[in-house]
Amino acid sequence: MRYEEWSGIARKASKRSLWMVHFCTGCGAIEMPPVMTSRYDMERFGIASMATPRQADVLLITGYLTVKTLKRVVQVYEQMQSPKYVIALGSCTMNGGMYWDSYNTIKRLDKYIPVDIYVAGCMPRPEGIMNAFLKLMKLIDEGKARGWERYKKYYERYKKNQEMAFNFVKKEEKEEEKNEGD
Ligand code: SF4
Repeated sequence: MRYEEWSGIARKASKRSLWMVHFCTGCGAIEMPPVMTSRYDMERFGIASMATPRQADVLLITGYLTVKTLKRVVQVYEQMQSPKYVIALGSCTMNGGMYWDSYNTIKRLDKYIPVDIYVAGCMPRPEGIMNAFLKLMKLIDEGKARGWERYKKYYERYKKNQEMAFNFVKKEEKEEEKNEGD
């Protein structure tokens, strides 16, 4: 059997067994209980939550991110094994949403880690989240969920964007320390 045939079978199997680590920031986290419990019952599609990023396939970002939280999100993402996928909820992850002019939240998540699917809304409804997972399954099946490959290919660019954001926080922390010392 050729590599392409094997990888097609592997994709078909893995799309039906998506383990998710959800990084519950922002308001979108409140939509997860109905998605995970009997109301929408995501487990019937083979989607389940996982306590550790090292065994998870999907990283779910549920809302706005401060720069300090972004640091943890990057650590989580880098601990996940490839192939790995990211779903981001709400306007805040796309363009800053209602925090668009905030000094300490990021505006676009995919500048820092690759996002496979954005779910529009403020906040998205559980149906929207379910739909995003079904769409992700389709993309995996077709071999089009390739964010993790982009992260490897453009690693330097992602790192540069992350460093720019993190250095901003370091500067803020130093100023805080200086003010406390005065
Ligand atoms: S998009 Fe709306 S609901 Fe989601 S985190 Fe931002 S403000 Fe909250």
